[in-house]
Amino acid sequence: MSVVVPVFNESANLTSLWSRLKPVLEGLGRPWETVFVDDGSRDDSLGILREIAAGEEGRVRVVELARNFGQHSAILAGFRQSRGEIVVTLDADLQNPPEEIPRLIAAIDEGNDVVGGWREERHDRAYRRYASRLHNRLTSLIVGVPMHDYGCMLRAYRRHIVDTVVECDEKAAFVPALANTFAKRVAEIPVGHDDRASGKSKYNLFGLAKLSLNLITGFSLVPIQLLSMTGIGISVLAVMMAIGLVAHRLIYGPQEEGALWTLFAILFFFVGMIFLALGLIGEYAGRIYIEVRRRPTYIVRAVHGVDAKPVDAQTD
Ligand code: UDP
Ligand code: MG
Repeated sequence: MSVVVPVFNESANLTSLWSRLKPVLEGLGRPWETVFVDDGSRDDSLGILREIAAGEEGRVRVVELARNFGQHSAILAGFRQSRGEIVVTLDADLQNPPEEIPRLIAAIDEGNDVVGGWREERHDRAYRRYASRLHNRLTSLIVGVPMHDYGCMLRAYRRHIVDTVVECDEKAAFVPALANTFAKRVAEIPVGHDDRASGKSKYNLFGLAKLSLNLITGFSLVPIQLLSMTGIGISVLAVMMAIGLVAHRLIYGPQEEGALWTLFAILFFFVGMIFLALGLIGEYAGRIYIEVRRRPTYIVRAVHGVDAKPVDAQTD
């Protein structure tokens, strides 16, 4: 199994992280490796990681990124370097207790493709917790796989999921959501959550908003479709208004402001049509976006049967 840890300016946490992570891995009773990804740290995280790796005879590797690319990109880089049948991700700040790893792995052994940690009791600021709740509802809806906690990075994935996620090579990937779209069985287990051991969170409100926006636009065309829907809504209302105006005129006869209201109805109708037109153009742009993104439409894991061969290898 592999553990992938993204690291950005975490020099104060790395030694204690390793002193807790290593015994857990040794206690698993299976081969393990750890891939640290130094995400362009400007402190001496890289030096400390290299020292750890030097003492571990190839079981610990350090991927040095050229600059800071963000947590999810760092995890992708780590995924690509990992070789285990099971891959666990973990934060470097000790908010995710390494001692939970055996439980994640047990859940994978039970036949799950993805196992997510669920921080039932979060040790984060209040605004983070509220934002998170909204974020999780939204993500569950968009991805179609309900989970309490998409933000928890203490997770385990099976190899084939990791390979598919890496293959997607997305520029703004949100790893837990992307992985879930390729999984057959997904489980979520409660895990502990601690205060950040040292240093400050690398995300501010803007960073979190950016991540959420990435997620929405990365997984659905709903924002664009909302535009068309709004357009249709406005036009329908305008038509109803026009009908109302005609009825009003028939019942009460011509009124002084009648012409003005008629103009309004016509205006609203065309405003709605413009929305709809923009939405339609957006819909085509969205389809192009889906095509260029090249996420797999389906993934064949195996072909079963006595003589099962790939179709193009059959001769007669
Ligand atoms: N991280 C990273 N690159 C970044 C931001 C964060 O590799 O640009 C790492 C960070 O070192 C930590 C993990 O991602 O190991 C989670 O970051 P953080 O603890 O700041 O996020 P929070 O727990 O506040 O969500
Ligand atoms: Mg943290």
